[in-house]
Amino acid sequence: MSWFDPWEQIERVALNDEPVDRALARAAPAVRAILARALAGQELSVDEAEALLGTTGDDLVALVRTADTIRETDVGDEVTYVVNRNINFTNVCFVNCQFCAFKRQRWEEDAYTHGMDVVLGKVEEAIGRGATEVCMQGGINPDMAPFTYRDILAEIKRRFPAIHVHAFSPMEIMYGARRTNMDYPAYIGMLRDGGLGSIPGTAAEILDDEVREILSHKKVDVRTWIEIITTAHRLGVPTTSTVMYGHVETAGHVARHLDLMRRIQKETGGFTEFVPLGFIWENTKLYHDGKVTPQPKGLRDLRIYATCRLVLSWVKLGHRLAQLSLRAGCNDFGGTLMEESISREAGADAGEYTSAEEIETLVRGMGRRPVQRTTLYGRVGQPGGESDHLRSDQQERIAPSA
Ligand code: SF4
Repeated sequence: MSWFDPWEQIERVALNDEPVDRALARAAPAVRAILARALAGQELSVDEAEALLGTTGDDLVALVRTADTIRETDVGDEVTYVVNRNINFTNVCFVNCQFCAFKRQRWEEDAYTHGMDVVLGKVEEAIGRGATEVCMQGGINPDMAPFTYRDILAEIKRRFPAIHVHAFSPMEIMYGARRTNMDYPAYIGMLRDGGLGSIPGTAAEILDDEVREILSHKKVDVRTWIEIITTAHRLGVPTTSTVMYGHVETAGHVARHLDLMRRIQKETGGFTEFVPLGFIWENTKLYHDGKVTPQPKGLRDLRIYATCRLVLSWVKLGHRLAQLSLRAGCNDFGGTLMEESISREAGADAGEYTSAEEIETLVRGMGRRPVQRTTLYGRVGQPGGESDHLRSDQQERIAPSA
């Protein structure tokens, strides 16, 4: 069962409306100097990001006010979201990540691998409910045929050419390339030519090999994650980027992770968004083995979101905290997620379908303007829907204060 910091404390930080100068005046001099540099549009160092990730009290209020001010200047009051559906086509996986409650061994009673008909049925149902995107990821299932990912993709695009397929994490790409004896450019190029629209920047967790050894020693390593992501970008396949926080990492790990994302973005410009994901500990081996001390949700999330000042994923937060995070520098509400089982298996109390109408109500409730977008940040229903101009805006917003 997850728990929160007292809501009065969370709201005192998130709903503080005082002018940013006044909030800064109450902050400690060192924090004030960092925030002033961020407000002046200067790039912050790893050490400065690490310092922000340790803020509390008035320093945290100043951080959140600064992030909201920069968000307002950069992108105004629009809060975008995408109508999408997750399809987790198999939960069979041999990788055994210690933070994952979704995976099953093939002999477990509730192990499943959807056939093509089931997958296509889910895509059709999603389109019928207004989805512009399906997001497909699954376990690393050793029983799947080598070209399974390509074949699922091809069949979806053959039947539903207009749907944007956002699929296959770097871990799945690594495994697919290995199974087919292809190198990454050839494998990703094959998926791109088969209609892959973009790749989730998941399986990143914290991009530090020592942390990854604790979380999952069989998982794609840092060098390979970067190689796959940058290869995709070079081949014209955009990806998202993520961080998973709240487990064994330190503020320094998060700061260096953000810096790595920023460096990749400067080099390739291929990230469409950055999604911080809070670790859901309840049903995980990591927690049951006593390797993590659960932290309350709320202030830590505002701190992370404000420091990243990037895209919001409400899935791990719950609606109220997601709403309040819009005051911590966020300008995207993520997706409707018609089906999301990975977070729920881990114990998330949020993560099931939220309708576009509900998202719009939540966004308006914070005095902001909801806008439905495509996966690549075009406007739904407008010409040039998959435009690039917001992606370049997004590039500026990648960890501006990290
Ligand atoms: S996170 Fe992914 S790769 Fe790791 S055990 Fe879970 S399903 Fe498998």
